[in-house]
Amino acid sequence: MAPWSKPLEVDRLAESQADLDYEIELAELPGLRSLRGGVAGKVAGRVHFGRRSGTAVAALTLDGTATLQCQRCMQPLQLPLQAAADVALIASEADAASVPADFEPVLAPGGRISIGELVTEELLLSLPIVPAHAGSEPCASVREPPPAAGETHKPFARLAELMKR
Ligand SMILES: [Zn+2]
Repeated sequence: MAPWSKPLEVDRLAESQADLDYEIELAELPGLRSLRGGVAGKVAGRVHFGRRSGTAVAALTLDGTATLQCQRCMQPLQLPLQAAADVALIASEADAASVPADFEPVLAPGGRISIGELVTEELLLSLPIVPAHAGSEPCASVREPPPAAGETHKPFARLAELMKR
């Protein structure tokens, strides 16, 4: 069992203001398996636990690269990921009302959540639903095709043709 997949006791970590470093292969996150074309790559970061107005909170940082499948040309698409989020870890949806301002509520059922679940929540917000090449990195199919072998002989062929006239 990967360390990030272990359910953690939110209250205990908030009490001790724990800092946890993590590193996750995106393909191993069960919550991302529904992404069309799949996902590869790696993210790393740190989760700092604490308490704000009685609620357990976590500051999450995330850095890495996701490799997705472009849904237009079906070729790999590299997506740099960088995020920092302040989340409030609530045991049930009824606690959502007491979440301090500027904190994003994340459900930790029974006061337990794994780093993998926290990271998945954040990634689902940053990853595109339909990944596609755009801007500075267009689809491979619209790029200039490489010259085909033999094409360089054409000028001479044309010259020979002209000399026949
Ligand atoms: Zn593409």
